[in-house]
Amino acid sequence: MKTIAILTIELYVECPYCGHAFDLLTDTSLNDDGFLIKQAISDDRWAIPAEDRIECEPECPQCETVFNVKGLEW
Ligand SMILES: [Zn+2]
Repeated sequence: MKTIAILTIELYVECPYCGHAFDLLTDTSLNDDGFLIKQAISDDRWAIPAEDRIECEPECPQCETVFNVKGLEW
């Protein structure tokens, strides 16, 4: 008997204005063609320090404020 392994990826940020936490990957406009996932974990990114690995400007789904995200902790 065998089964498959399931890998899940979440890329959470906390809005600096209202504190709402949300997954950046649920915003499809930010992750077009896997853009954010490639920034976070693709092979050519391992040489880049984690604090420089992600950069994007999401809009908070709760307070609708746009803010900057740079750096990754994992
Ligand atoms: Zn917010």
